[in-house]
Amino acid sequence: MKMPTDKVVVIPCSGIGKVYGALSREIAYELAERVRPDTVLLTCLPLLMIADEQATQLVTENPVITIDGCPLGCAHKCVESRGVEVAKTFQSISFYVAHKDHKPEGVAELDETGRKLAAIAADELAPVVDELAGGRVK
Ligand code: SF4
Repeated sequence: MKMPTDKVVVIPCSGIGKVYGALSREIAYELAERVRPDTVLLTCLPLLMIADEQATQLVTENPVITIDGCPLGCAHKCVESRGVEVAKTFQSISFYVAHKDHKPEGVAELDETGRKLAAIAADELAPVVDELAGGRVK
C-alpha cells in the first residue's frame, strides 16, 4: 500500500498519429502546467517500459492517473505491467463525448478547439487530483 503523498503522477499514452492520443498528452500538460502545477508530476511512458529506476519510483510511491487515447489503454496497461495499481484511469475521448461542441483536430499538435477541450478536461480532473493528493481515495 502506498503511503499518503501530496503528489499525483499523470501518465498519458504516447498516442502517435491519433488525435485522442494528442488530446491525452495535452490534458496532462494542462494539469501539470496550469491546473495543479504543485501537485501533478508527469513521466514518460517509455521510461516505464524500460524499467527506468526514477520513473518506476515515481509510480510506486505516488497515486497514478492514466489518460489513454483509445480503448487499447496503453498507458494503463503499461503502468500495471510494472506491478503498480492505477488509482484512476480515463480515456480522452470521453471528454469529447461530454463536450460534443469541442471536436478536436490535429495529430502532432491539437487545433485551438482541441486545446480548449484539453483545458476543460483538466479542470474537470482537478477534483480527482485533489482527492488523490491527500491519499484519501482508496
Ligand atoms: S492507447 Fe491508443 S492512442 Fe494511446 S498509445 Fe495506445 S494505441 Fe495509441
